[in-house]
Amino acid sequence: MDFNITLIPGDGIGPEIVAEAVKVLNKTGEIYHASFHFTKILMGGCSIDKYGVPLTDEALQTAKSSDAVLLGAVGGNTDTSPWYKLPPEKRPEAGLLAIRKGLGLYANLRPALLFDELKAACPLKESTGEKGFDFLIMRELTGGLYFGKRETVVKDGKRVAMDTLTYSEDEIRRIAVRAFEVARKRRRKVTSVDKANVLDSSRLWRSVTAEVAKDYPDVELSNMLVDNCAMQIVKDPAQFDVILTENMFGDILSDEASMVTGSLGMLPSASLGAGKFGLYEPSHGSAPDIAGLDVANPIATIMSAAMLLRYSLDMNEAADSVENAVKSVLADGYRTGDIMSEGKQKVGCHEMGDLICERIK
Ligand code: NAD
Repeated sequence: MDFNITLIPGDGIGPEIVAEAVKVLNKTGEIYHASFHFTKILMGGCSIDKYGVPLTDEALQTAKSSDAVLLGAVGGNTDTSPWYKLPPEKRPEAGLLAIRKGLGLYANLRPALLFDELKAACPLKESTGEKGFDFLIMRELTGGLYFGKRETVVKDGKRVAMDTLTYSEDEIRRIAVRAFEVARKRRRKVTSVDKANVLDSSRLWRSVTAEVAKDYPDVELSNMLVDNCAMQIVKDPAQFDVILTENMFGDILSDEASMVTGSLGMLPSASLGAGKFGLYEPSHGSAPDIAGLDVANPIATIMSAAMLLRYSLDMNEAADSVENAVKSVLADGYRTGDIMSEGKQKVGCHEMGDLICERIK
């Protein structure tokens, strides 16, 4: 089996963590008889420095013609980096929006899983952490407020800003179908999150989701307002299986969900389009404060590589073996600085990658 993978190391810790994930992919390739051909492209600040734009058309074409994309992170220090003096559409993060749109990635999956070995890091009440949780946020990625018409005008001598939130029923239906399909492989529960007491777009969201649910009688659907969901994630996260929601709500809730696991450096994500193609990246950012120090936790990126194996390459056994290797390293007491606790052995980014590779069977 030969696969073409586009790599986007990006900025900050991106190159360090992607290098560890590549090591892991190559190890699984040896064991599971697959050859990975990696092509690197620039995106984010490094692309701005070289080409003046966060993503070139050529880079996008390279990504499009591959089987899957693995991304580190993009962006710099938003207070001090000159990238943030550029207009918003020229900044590093504009590359993220452009690649998601350009690759037609409309579904973002972010698992929020509390590892048994890291229960102590959960910032919630001890009894809540002890109970554990394992849910997934399915966020719509190419519609809503982030892609609507926006402008700032001066009216009667005062600045007025406007953003628009639009969803068509087709956009809602395709992501709802994905959520129900994923729920079928899990605990068969979908919680659709909206603000239907206020927003028209949410009322349409609720009604289309209910229509889709009729095709999935084996999956339980419930609706929840986004403000309540934000509270429930803190109060009782174990109640959730798949949370389905629109772009901006998903952006905020998925950050909250990653915080309750207590370990941002552990959480992967996948962005899927039609068919098997997907882009995989850690849930955290480019951490410019620790870039180049060999202290970043590569596990979120390595777990993203496991999702890549599972969702884009159908290499389920290889994906299982990577996830098990991560659990085994944690069980053996190795920790990067961000998840360090008393009595454990502290390792750097590179060594963590090596330890995981050694355990891939
Ligand atoms: P961040 O996730 O980069 O960092 C938040 C904190 O977590 C920092 O203290 C950082 O050191 C730590 N951290 C993050 N990942 C870590 C890891 N793997 N190991 C150890 N510690 C880790 O968020 P931020 O500081 O708000 O953003 C920094 C830059 O990243 C900004 O330019 C932002 O726009 C960008 N960003 C990019 C993406 C992306 O590429 N998808 C996502 C979020 C933020």
